[in-house]
Amino acid sequence: MIQFSKINKHYGSNHVLKDVDLNIREGEVVVIIGPSGSGKSTLLRCINRLESITSGELNVHGKKVNDKHTNINQLRQEIGMVFQHFNLYPHKSVLDNITLAPIKVRGMSKAQADELAMYYLEKVGIKEKAHVYPSNLSGGQQQRVAIARGLAMKPKIMLFDEPTSALDPEMVGEVLDVMKALTKEGMTMVVVTHEMGFAREVADRVIFMDQGQIVEEGAPAHFFTNPSEDRARLFLSRIL
Ligand code: ADP
Ligand code: MG
Repeated sequence: MIQFSKINKHYGSNHVLKDVDLNIREGEVVVIIGPSGSGKSTLLRCINRLESITSGELNVHGKKVNDKHTNINQLRQEIGMVFQHFNLYPHKSVLDNITLAPIKVRGMSKAQADELAMYYLEKVGIKEKAHVYPSNLSGGQQQRVAIARGLAMKPKIMLFDEPTSALDPEMVGEVLDVMKALTKEGMTMVVVTHEMGFAREVADRVIFMDQGQIVEEGAPAHFFTNPSEDRARLFLSRIL
């Protein structure tokens, strides 16, 4: 579903992705961990071309992301993304936040889009908040709306960049629960997170990045109990 082959990315003289090779299968849940500045967000943002790459080849769902003949808008419709900050439109209701793209991009009628939005709001457990504004929601609720908004585009891939990092601790669980449910439905997911419990429980694979490289990867059972790389061990000893 996602194939990085020898991907390099520079910001000026800063070499932030170094020969990254990574293949993610359909339905796989991959958790990316690593210190701040190691390139996790950049890696994620390359997948939907929010960032361009300097060299290498990146294929998503059989399409070359950086080829000028690739219809990037079409590709982006297949990729949902949830950020640390929820980026909801403050002047639109929860419902309108979710229906905006299905109406504009997918050409749905308002009624169809409303129905779809209600379906996903129910899925994330806040159907009753459809008509309120984001500012009237808790952080956890706003993030669940952001997830519902992503899902309403019926993506094939969901990317999460530290979706719980900006939340008060008591709200982390409700967002992780929604994400866990999604993994059970076979969604292909790439998740940058510091939530090691989540990684242990639902990741098919954990990727550890440091200084722009994938330093270690493996099944969580192996990774958390017996990492082979010193840098991974050190990171885990600090975070666990
Ligand atoms: P992480 O998500 O692991 O914290 P990032 O991917 O955000 O790491 O950043 C990797 C490196 O790229 C860092 O050195 C960061 O300063 C740099 N970087 C990230 N985004 C930009 C940008 N838009 N312009 C210039 N440098 C950037
Ligand atoms: Mg980041």
